[in-house]
Amino acid sequence: MNNKSNYKYLLSDLSSLKGVGVKTTKLLKKKKINNIFDLLWKLPKSYTDRSLSSKIKDLRIGETQTVTIIPKKYFFPRIKNLPNRVVCVDESGEMDCVFFNSYEGYVKKILPLGKEVTVSGKIGIFRNKYQLTNPKYISEDASLIKQKHNTYSLTEGISEKVYNKIINQIIEKLPILDEWHSKELIKKFDGISWNESIIELHKPENKDNYKKNFYKRLAYDEIFSTFLVNSEIRKKIKRIKKKNKRLNIKKQNLIIDNLDFKLTQDQLRSLKEINNDLSSSTKMFRLLQGDVGSGKTIVSLISAFNTINSGFQVSLMAPTEILARQHHNLAKKILPKNINVALISGKSDYKQKKEILKRLSNHEIDMIFGTHAIFQTKVVFKKLGLIIIDEQHKFGVNQRKKLSDKGGDNCDVLLMTATPIPRTLTMTMYGDMDLSVIREKPATRKPIQTFSKLESKINDVILFIKKQIKLNNQIFWVCPLIEESKKIDHSSAVKKFEYLNMIFPNEVALLHGKTNIEDKEIILNDFLKNKFKILVSTTIIEVGIDFPNANVIIIENANKFGLSQLHQLRGRVGRGNKQSTCILMFKSNLSENAKKRINILKDSNDGFFISEEDMKIRGFGDILGFKQSGIKNFKLADPIHNSNLFLLAEKEMKRIEGANESIKKFKPLIKLYDRADIINDIA
Ligand code: ADP
Ligand code: MG
Repeated sequence: MNNKSNYKYLLSDLSSLKGVGVKTTKLLKKKKINNIFDLLWKLPKSYTDRSLSSKIKDLRIGETQTVTIIPKKYFFPRIKNLPNRVVCVDESGEMDCVFFNSYEGYVKKILPLGKEVTVSGKIGIFRNKYQLTNPKYISEDASLIKQKHNTYSLTEGISEKVYNKIINQIIEKLPILDEWHSKELIKKFDGISWNESIIELHKPENKDNYKKNFYKRLAYDEIFSTFLVNSEIRKKIKRIKKKNKRLNIKKQNLIIDNLDFKLTQDQLRSLKEINNDLSSSTKMFRLLQGDVGSGKTIVSLISAFNTINSGFQVSLMAPTEILARQHHNLAKKILPKNINVALISGKSDYKQKKEILKRLSNHEIDMIFGTHAIFQTKVVFKKLGLIIIDEQHKFGVNQRKKLSDKGGDNCDVLLMTATPIPRTLTMTMYGDMDLSVIREKPATRKPIQTFSKLESKINDVILFIKKQIKLNNQIFWVCPLIEESKKIDHSSAVKKFEYLNMIFPNEVALLHGKTNIEDKEIILNDFLKNKFKILVSTTIIEVGIDFPNANVIIIENANKFGLSQLHQLRGRVGRGNKQSTCILMFKSNLSENAKKRINILKDSNDGFFISEEDMKIRGFGDILGFKQSGIKNFKLADPIHNSNLFLLAEKEMKRIEGANESIKKFKPLIKLYDRADIINDIA
């Protein structure tokens, strides 16, 4: 194999490197460094310039310098804790090399008397004499150490010297890969090749130089490879032939006309996009993305109706049982009576479940609602035509792909999420799916009024709540999430519950991390039925559930949350027609920066806009739901610094897809960067 032009060398085992034995391999594996390519991203955090050589008389204390000396005399004291010492000279003067915790044999070996040796290290002074303590870089050949050395954040058990040695080796042997990008594209980076870029990246003086072409090119490679993988998954799914669904739009419109509201333009457009997919002869893999309360459920239920009406079954999976139940109830309300819907619940007993499963398997049930249990238990469908997954923004690309394989070829897949993300990240996060977006809120919706309040002014808040309760409204009270200690977390909610319960006896309930699932369901159901007025909770109140009668949310210690998170929480209210209010409580006066952030939230009810602003302020890592997305695994690319690269990659991806260009030349890029091995067969 010719190393020089083959990417496979980069995927080879670490043991092929000089100086990397079993022990080092093990240590690196612990750090998820499994092959040579992984090591390329082990970047120096700073560097030491050992090229600054000097004569003894000119040494500068406190600086790392290199000096060529002749060892003259050893002192090996027999007293514990006293260091071994070697007196060394050059023609300009005398200095000591001292060694703590060392063996005589070692000292004699590296500093043999009378022989010229070059040492390097930080120069100190002791009893008026220059001194070098535990010199690490010692060589009889000065040219070997008179250079710049990178300092790495060290893996335990591996020294800097070893790192330098390993990485220098890799850089020397770096294969020169054929350019995978087009000439036009690579011009944007001044034509710098992958190989040259990696070399630049490892030059110590180039640390964090993300404005330079080498850095941009590598970041672009990373982004583009993600897009490629996503695009390949999408193409693969689209190649799956299915039996198309014959829709009856007249019947569909009867349902729409019977709703007690008018669908928004965005809802209608999304429905049309979904319908197109359903009636096409290739499999649908679509994401319906829309801000909280934008009305995704109804769109999905109408799609379900169309599917059922063409002779197929539908399954809808929600993250919690209460949400599944709510969707089930809505379906019963809006779908024609001849359509059979059922709910698989944790509460249904064995006999009931068995009955449901039987009726599903012989197509007596058209649509089933449930949690992920739908997929875990052995549910057999006679003719499954559509899987709808609600609020699963935590699913990563891999999980989604598995999902699309479930249900068989004839089964379309619709995912829904209320997590708006910045525009630049759409392709990264959701590039494997087709996308329908609902940006518009129902016209009847009043924006949620958002205020901030100091905790010391809690009496004002209580007065406000009293008025709201008189109007028969309900209130969410969210207590601080203190990550460090679940205990404190819990007790602050309990205290708040006790405090509120004194003021509003029998009108308050409490939910926290320790409430068991059944109690939680009962409490949430009672709240839905307006059996009590205030719900105190620690954990984020389940996404998606519709509490039309709740119109006030109080969020304590609001600075603990990101803007997107606050927006999501706030989205629990304001779904009915009443004016709703969100009160953000703070322990102390806000800093200017915090005020700026909170003002974004006060001024806007648009989750997409808020997520953009949030990302600009806090970085992309903190935005809701990103942790699982894999986006954090980018080595260099940064959605904020490199937003233009994300857009460039998107444009290029669309061009390639549009021109139906072969992606064969990108094979090395995908092989190197697609660590999950999602794509293993590139035509
Ligand atoms: P989400 O997109 O967050 O899942 P839902 O589907 O739960 O939102 O809808 C939120 C509320 O808005 C529901 O009570 C629903 O009945 C209502 N709704 C949906 N679409 C409209 C519309 N076009 N006009 C008025 N209300 C609507
Ligand atoms: Mg929803």
